[in-house]
Amino acid sequence: MPMPETLKDPRMIAIMLLKATALPDEQVFMELATPKYTSVDYYRMACHMLFECQRCGRCCTTGDPIRLRPKDAAALAKHLKIPLNRAIKKYTIPDPDKPGALDFKHTKPCKFYDVSAAGCKIYTARPWSCRIFPFLGVYGSEEQVIVNKSCPGSLKTMEILTVALQDVRAKVAFAAPGLDEVRRNKELLRAVLESV
Ligand code: SF4
Ligand code: SF4
Repeated sequence: MPMPETLKDPRMIAIMLLKATALPDEQVFMELATPKYTSVDYYRMACHMLFECQRCGRCCTTGDPIRLRPKDAAALAKHLKIPLNRAIKKYTIPDPDKPGALDFKHTKPCKFYDVSAAGCKIYTARPWSCRIFPFLGVYGSEEQVIVNKSCPGSLKTMEILTVALQDVRAKVAFAAPGLDEVRRNKELLRAVLESV
């Protein structure tokens, strides 16, 4: 889903991010079922909002491992209208670094990369690792936002966000946000994960 233009303004996103990270999730979301995210996760969501893919195709052709979660394999099978065990056998291999996890079998290029259209043939069913690329890392951890340097759009995005944050911190004076405001801004950023 394309992001509304108003949500692509770096300063607006920087303000949203600063408000969203004013309090930790533990103080804002009391519901047990709600996933808890760290400040780093919210930075990553802000990066997704600003990111513009250059459609160079590097991420889909260089042979880097593409990990699948169990629900990614299920989504692939459903998308291709084939049984799950057949999808696993035909398109995946065991991940050498994580027992029990699966990787795509073909990544150089990815079996699902459409060279002529420079796009993904299974876009709506692509794995989570493709959705969150190029701002990698483990959601829920305190790892820094890891940027894949082979992606031409990613470094630019980090630069834009860093400048916007510096600008907002230097020029915008806003009162410490209340619980409701923090929650609202967290929810706006969390919605990004539904749209990537
Ligand atoms: S599944 Fe799609 S987005 Fe992911 S690597 Fe393959 S072609 Fe690229
Ligand atoms: S490497 Fe980055 S810019 Fe190039 S297609 Fe992949 S996500 Fe887009």
